[in-house]
Amino acid sequence: MSTASDRKHYSMIIDGKSVEAQSGLTFETFNPSKNEVLATVARAGKADVDAAVAAARGALNNAWKKTSAVKRTRLLMKYAELIQKNIDELARLETMNCGKPVWASKGELTQGIEDFEYYAGAITKLTGETLVMPNNLFAYTTREPVGVCGQIVPWNYPVMMAAWKLAPALAAGCTVVLKPASATPLTALCLAELALEAGIPAGVVNVITGPGAEIGAYMAEHPGIDKIAFTGETETGKAIMRAAAGTMKRVTLELGGKSPNLVFEDADLAAAVNGSVFAVFYSSGQSCEARTRVYVHEKVYDAFVADFIAKTQKLVVGDPLHEKTQIGALISDAHLRKVHGYVESGVAEGARLECGGKKVETGDLAKGNFYAPAVLTGVNQKMKCVREEVFGPVVTISPFKTESEALELANDTEYGLAGTVWSTNGARAIRASAGIKAGLITVNQPFTGFPGVPFGGFKQSGFGRELALETLKLYTEQKSVVQWVGEKPLNPFGL
Ligand code: NDP
Repeated sequence: MSTASDRKHYSMIIDGKSVEAQSGLTFETFNPSKNEVLATVARAGKADVDAAVAAARGALNNAWKKTSAVKRTRLLMKYAELIQKNIDELARLETMNCGKPVWASKGELTQGIEDFEYYAGAITKLTGETLVMPNNLFAYTTREPVGVCGQIVPWNYPVMMAAWKLAPALAAGCTVVLKPASATPLTALCLAELALEAGIPAGVVNVITGPGAEIGAYMAEHPGIDKIAFTGETETGKAIMRAAAGTMKRVTLELGGKSPNLVFEDADLAAAVNGSVFAVFYSSGQSCEARTRVYVHEKVYDAFVADFIAKTQKLVVGDPLHEKTQIGALISDAHLRKVHGYVESGVAEGARLECGGKKVETGDLAKGNFYAPAVLTGVNQKMKCVREEVFGPVVTISPFKTESEALELANDTEYGLAGTVWSTNGARAIRASAGIKAGLITVNQPFTGFPGVPFGGFKQSGFGRELALETLKLYTEQKSVVQWVGEKPLNPFGL
């Protein structure tokens, strides 16, 4: 990979070549820690989407479909190895482009590598079935790649979201046109370069960069694309579903969240505080699965809140390239203002701002989009800050009296992505996990993303699962074959 985090221009990768937009247009991408231009990037239009789709179709028919599963395993393992070899450089670039601490970028890249390894191993285990049939009929099923997949990813986990999508698609034998978010296009372009270096044929991984409202929307309706896999806002997901209906594309959607975090009176309180602070403030709260609505049993509420505030105030907000930083920059000044708007609206509706809740203006940090993590108490279910996805370092904490009230509060949302339960009572932990209407529940720990553990939403958090064995099936079509095996030929009409 010829990538260096000081490269000043990034081209797209279409059909194995580094190309500019046919229009010649470019756009700027920024470092949110300084609000300085990091690089220019090719700005694709519809003609570039057409070129990428044609390349993906050609590679599907002429190369990737004909590459055996075992060979795909070897190529994906090689790909994983190359990402590992470049991990320091990629982590630095990711941090400079999206503002998250460099240790977090490295951790997310490590998970991305594990995704490729997981699906490299899994693909050779995807088998068909033979079926029970009447005499003289024999039937079996096979799985074929869905075809050309359009993959559209957001800016909050740029490289990890790309890996979540690329790994199962490539393993299943699909080819890809991937569109990263305009705010964070760089590491996805590097991944496309590394795919070529790993020996994955030209045209299998195409990465195009440009405005989602234009080229993303065009991908969703494009007749040459067989499936769209999308991660982003719920409203964008709905628009994609509508656009994809025209060609009956397969669609999987990983959308927004407003996940609950329940702390019962029998919880290990210190562990619950430490884990809950992480569950909401990791990635500066710019996580779809951030558990931003904390509900605490009234008996331990005061102690929990006091410790939560104290620990939140200890979080190191700073230059994300420093190893000790825990809270990096938000993606843009506009996003920071949107996040702050939720704190302001909460306070206006009667919430108490216990700490943080303002832009950090000290020294060099004043140039970037740094925001002091905010804790709001005295909230109720009607407030905007409790109902809507903030996507920033803002948490609301409120008390509950009973287990059933806790579950009612947890489920009082249109979203259903994740949830966390803190309790040392095993039976209660199982009851509460069953009671929360969400795709992924964590118990006595905050971590959510593991290769092999299905990730995805209930309700308006989307549908389809990523990271799972089942995900491979979502990149394949099942085919049934029913064959006559009788000694005499069939003559159904008796003709
Ligand atoms: P957006 O939905 O705005 O953007 C996501 C991607 O979609 C970007 O690449 C964007 O391109 C593109 N896009 C924008 N408009 C369209 C369109 N009309 N048609 C097709 N593509 C389009 O989300 P954000 O970037 O703001 O990402 C944050 C959201 O992602 C949050 O709501 C969060 O909850 C969700 N998310 C969900 C996850 C999950 O697994 N459930 C994981 C991570 C995030 P461009 O950048 O050029 O506008």
